[in-house]
Formats: sequence, structure tokens, C-alpha cells
Amino acid sequence: MTDSKGQGAALVTGSSSGIGLGIAEALAAAGHDVMLNGIDPETEVAPERDRLAEAHGVRTAYARADLTHGQAVDDLVGEAEDRLGPLAVLVNNAGVQHVAPIAEFPDDKWELILALNLSAAFRAIRAVVPGMTARGHGRIVNIASAHGFVASPGKAAYVAAKHGLLGLTKTAALETAEQGVTVNAICPGYVWTPLVESQIPDTAKARGITEEEVKRDVLLAAAPTREFATTAQIGALAAFLCTDAAAQITGAALPVDGGWTAQ
Ligand code: NAD
Repeated sequence: MTDSKGQGAALVTGSSSGIGLGIAEALAAAGHDVMLNGIDPETEVAPERDRLAEAHGVRTAYARADLTHGQAVDDLVGEAEDRLGPLAVLVNNAGVQHVAPIAEFPDDKWELILALNLSAAFRAIRAVVPGMTARGHGRIVNIASAHGFVASPGKAAYVAAKHGLLGLTKTAALETAEQGVTVNAICPGYVWTPLVESQIPDTAKARGITEEEVKRDVLLAAAPTREFATTAQIGALAAFLCTDAAAQITGAALPVDGGWTAQ
């Protein structure tokens, strides 16, 4: 651990990989101490945790916690504040997906997706709001999705959870607006993550098309720009929302989807 740069502590859920890690990096670059979280063993996350601290001169820590268990969310907020100090920033990013038609959608997958993608965000917001409002400053960023605005077949639980997350964002924004706290959602389309990248060869094989065709005609079919967003782009927007320049942006749902939801 190095010395804090004084921007305040940030907790980013689901930040051991993908978008969450991109957000953690952008917040560290902006001078925030960062608590990382995920379900991966600490030994796997330690190299990234230490690299962020060294590269940006901030303090970082990692807590392995499964946030589908409600009490784990409250414990994670407590651990983050014990280790890094009062939270100036909360990013609710952890999320999972399951694809099946409604008639075949398993109960356990519905419960899992609602618990992680929606209820964990509610619990984390509930846990940080008293401290943030008492201090007169706070930034909460919820990572929703283009599926917070529009639906796709087979994604009942995910679409319901992400639409719900936008409602939660607006309610929390209204309740905290006079106390220096902003609450916003970022709504990505497809983002280039290791998870997305790893699915491309199999999809190409299964459909008998090239990997370029999978990207353009399958994954990016709905995105007018025909390009993925990057984790760095999502991170940069999240970090901007945490600045003083963004003090009047609250209750917003900001698409980063190459024009998908403009159609
Ligand atoms: P990812 O699979 O790369 O990373 C998910 C993270 O969540 C990991 O750190 C993992 O350890 C953690 N996690 C998984 N289950 C957990 C649990 N039970 N408790 C705590 N942490 C858990 O995912 P990603 O693609 O980076 O997605 C991150 C967020 O962005 C999600 O909310 C997702 O819905 C949203 N999103 C992603 C895309 C995309 O194209 N990748 C598009 C729109 C929205």
C-alpha cells in the first residue's frame, strides 16, 4: 500500500475483471483509493490489485465476497471503510447473465440475477447513503446496460433487473439530491471484455462464419457504429461522473452503446 492521494475511497463491486476492473483503473488514475471485489480467489487478483496501486500511487485492497448473499454486501461496505476510510464513491458493477426463453427460465437463475444485478446494488446504496449524506458528498454509479432501456428475447431476468436498476438509480438520486450525492447509471451496449472475446471462436465455429462476421453481424448487429465500447471508455465516464464537474448530473441513465438505443 502507498499513501492516499486524497480523492477519497471507492468501492467497485465485481472489479476483478472486465468492466469493473476498467472502472477501478480509471478511479485509481483519478487518485481514488480503490476496494476491488469479486468471487475470484485473492491470489488471482493480487497482481492487478498491486499493479493499480503502484501505477497510480493510491491504496488498493481486494475483498472476495459473493454479493448474492445480502449480508455480504453490508459486510463488504464495512470492510472497504475499515481498510480505506469513508466511501466517497460506490460503483455497483457486479452482474451476471443467463439466456433462456421465459417458459424454460430456471427459478435459480432468476433469483441469482435479481439478487446480484439489482438487490446487491440496493443494499450497497442503502449502506453508503447515510455516511455520504452526513458528509455532504458522494458519488454512486450503477452499471446497467442497453438492456435497461430495451429488451432482447431470452433475457427476462437480466432485462428486468437492469430496468429495475434504472428505477433504483432515479429514486436514490431524488432522495439524496440536496445532500451533495449524485446517483447515475451507465448503460453499455457490447463492451470488449475477455468474456466477450472468448465466446467468438466458438460462435464462429457453431455458425460456420468468420470471427469478423461474428463481431459485425452477430454481436454488433444492433450497434450502428459496428464497434465495441472498451472497458477504458466505460471507466472514463464513471470517473467523470465522480468529479465536481459532474455535480449537476444525477438520476441520469447514460448510454455507451454505439447508438443501439437511439433506434
Ligand atoms: P465479467 O464477467 O467480466 O465480470 C464480472 C465481475 O463480477 C467479476 O469481477 C466477477 O468476479 C464478479 N462477480 C460475479 N459473480 C459475483 C457475485 N456473486 N458476487 C460478487 N461479484 C461477482 O462481466 P462484465 O462483462 O465486465 O460486466 C460487468 C457489468 O457490466 C455487469 O453488471 C454487466 O451486466 C454489465 N454489462 C456488460 C456488458 C458487456 O458487454 N460486457 C454490456 C452491458 C452491461
